[in-house]
Formats: sequence, C-alpha cells, structure tokens
Amino acid sequence: MADQSEPLQPQPLDEWLLKLLACPACPQHYPLAFDVDKSVLLCHCGRYAFPVGTDGIPNLLVTDDKIVNPDADPSSCSPPTGAN
Ligand SMILES: [Zn+2]
Repeated sequence: MADQSEPLQPQPLDEWLLKLLACPACPQHYPLAFDVDKSVLLCHCGRYAFPVGTDGIPNLLVTDDKIVNPDADPSSCSPPTGAN
C-alpha cells in the first residue's frame, strides 16, 4: 500500500464500509452503490434500494419495501464496471 496523504473528502458512508457491503438479495452479491441524495444503497440490478439510517447503519434486510423496480431481474444483475 502506498502512503496517500491527500485529504479525505467528507462522505456520509465510509468507503471501507461500502466495499464490504454486498447486495444481500442478488445471487452474485455485487457491491452496492451509494446514492448520496437519497441516502440509499442501490443494488446494481436496480431492483432494491436499501436505506441508510442517520446513524450510518444500512438496513440490508431483504423485504418487499426495499423493492424499487419490480421489473429488474436480480439473476441478470451485471457487475459494477470499473472504479470511480
Ligand atoms: Zn442486488
């Protein structure tokens, strides 16, 4: 690991935590994408959105109220492309 001294930008969710979080609903378990505006973690298939509480703890229980796009098929979830 290289020593990175560049200043960290304020983030509502820790990057290390984001990397640990995988979609609990899809068979591929791809990492979730964080939507800053809505404060939700989005599945790459687009079917689920998991809310992140004000305490920074995401609710990753797979329940019907997490479904934002019922037409999306988790089995066809595509991997995240590249890194931002
Ligand atoms: Zn998923």
